[in-house]
Amino acid sequence: MNKEQVKEMIEKRCVNFIMCTNSECKYYWEDMCTKNVGNEIVHIDDSGKCEDFEQGECDWYKEMEEEE
Ligand code: SF4
Repeated sequence: MNKEQVKEMIEKRCVNFIMCTNSECKYYWEDMCTKNVGNEIVHIDDSGKCEDFEQGECDWYKEMEEEE
């Protein structure tokens, strides 16, 4: 699923997503988790810490820069 499809789904309110504010993660995009949007499971440990965190920047930001 690309970001245009996600935007469309959000506008139509037909997608549920996990809100996340960890902008240091490669799955973070606009206060949501793109991993979850792709129907992948996000694993949270007993202390509330996300086990799927990976340092980096979401590819969608790079795509947005290229489009401008
Ligand atoms: S993988 Fe975890 S830390 Fe990264 S954006 Fe998703 S919920 Fe947030």
